[in-house]
Amino acid sequence: MKTTSFTSAPQDADARKAIRPVICYPTDTMPRPDLAQYQAVREGLELVNRVVVPPRDAATWEVPAGHFCRIVCSEGSQVGDLNLFNLHNLHERFYSGKTRALCGTHVGVGDQIFSSFPYLRPMATITYDTLDWYGFDDFGGAVHDVIGTRCDPYTHNLLSNGGQYHHCCHSNLTRALAKKAGLSLEEAERHVHDVLNVFMCTGFTRDTGQYFMKASPVRPDDYLEFFAEIDLLGCMSACPGGDCSTVHSSDAAACFPLVVEVLRPKHPPLNWKAPAINGYDRSHGGG
Ligand SMILES: [Zn+2]
Repeated sequence: MKTTSFTSAPQDADARKAIRPVICYPTDTMPRPDLAQYQAVREGLELVNRVVVPPRDAATWEVPAGHFCRIVCSEGSQVGDLNLFNLHNLHERFYSGKTRALCGTHVGVGDQIFSSFPYLRPMATITYDTLDWYGFDDFGGAVHDVIGTRCDPYTHNLLSNGGQYHHCCHSNLTRALAKKAGLSLEEAERHVHDVLNVFMCTGFTRDTGQYFMKASPVRPDDYLEFFAEIDLLGCMSACPGGDCSTVHSSDAAACFPLVVEVLRPKHPPLNWKAPAINGYDRSHGGG
């Protein structure tokens, strides 16, 4: 966010600004999931686990590779902050920045959720989204962003003149992961990472480039569904911001639980294989 300019524009400023952008990562060389095969096995899914994420708190769950997972708005408009891990290796985790670079600022059906270096492979494929209709609104807002980080007590402390609040998504995720993995809070906190903001409606202001949020369009029975490409450990916080229409990092907003469903298809998608870890040899040009 620039508030001051120290420079005057050069004579060819307009010409420089008029240069058309190019997409950083053209997706035509990226391996794409065969979405039709995923869709074909969505009929007759069997519910094998159901987890309730309490408001202003977090919960964990497992999704075996080849299963589907739905994040469901159950009672009221509510945003979820989602972390994903390789169930067998907490160091392989959702990589928000690279997913953003590859898929865009907000994810939807057909997008894949990528894991961190050096693994960099699809962890999950988004297969259904009842908010698919939303697209981008007139403010540039859209749902399910991979641009926000998660509300956290450190930023809150910084911006609130020393405030202490213990139910930000960061802390909720830390407590839930510590409990699941048998780690201390300090150890667990190191594994908590930038989230997929499920149902959150966000964008950047055109004039100042600031990250904005607005009331989520999600309503009860809406859901976001993904297919687990590898065995996953999910960890999600029902954000203290509720629908994120006004404030977070406090108990002021109306908050609701979220429901997570794990569903088993009768058989895996045709020709589907769990992706191997990234093929780069990791020598980095060194001796
Ligand atoms: Zn939050």
